Amino acid sequence: MTTARNALPGTARAQLKRVIADAAKCTRCPLYANATQTVFGEGMPGAHIMLVGEQPGDKEDIAGRPFVGPAGKLLDRALVDAGIAREDTYVTNAVKHFKNEPRGKRRIHKKPNMAEIEQCRWWLEHEIRIVKPTLLVALGSTAARTLLGREARVQKERGRVETGADGLPVFITIHPSALVRIEDDAQRHAEYRRFVADMKAVRRWRMKTAA
Ligand code: SF4
Repeated sequence: MTTARNALPGTARAQLKRVIADAAKCTRCPLYANATQTVFGEGMPGAHIMLVGEQPGDKEDIAGRPFVGPAGKLLDRALVDAGIAREDTYVTNAVKHFKNEPRGKRRIHKKPNMAEIEQCRWWLEHEIRIVKPTLLVALGSTAARTLLGREARVQKERGRVETGADGLPVFITIHPSALVRIEDDAQRHAEYRRFVADMKAVRRWRMKTAA
């Protein structure tokens, strides 16, 4: 669907390109030193829904693209099952470098700390300013903390729309990596259905604001 927002002038795309180029050289916090590259968000300016995760994982760090690993594939499937069009979304992370600890041949994910999240907010704020989403979706506690500007208890607040630190509505849900980690098949399928229900609520919100 082409809307006035999708038809934003090419200047927004040019701005985004410039910010991506600047972020590729970022040394605002120490995380750049131990990662392959900056992993910036993907999507078009004017996308109504901005999905925000925590940080790139191992696969994203190597590919240089957000949400391309197992959690990203699951997110893609949930968006399709919820009827959300890809062009309606912009996907990104609160932190743009993969924080990890080498262990043998593996790199173990480490949670970014508050100082790192605060430094990286700079880039997320640029993305929000340029893309102009009408709804932010916090995937997990780090994203919720970043977008709301306060601690969030994701399991308790899941499914709610709160006003974020930037004044935009923020829908709170879990990070899809939480689903990937569930070993029991029946429990994983049940939790997946719950996640799709969250994405359907996001879609309803988007339809309401588009009306
Ligand atoms: S994590 Fe963010 S703030 Fe830190 S170096 Fe990377 S892009 Fe810069």
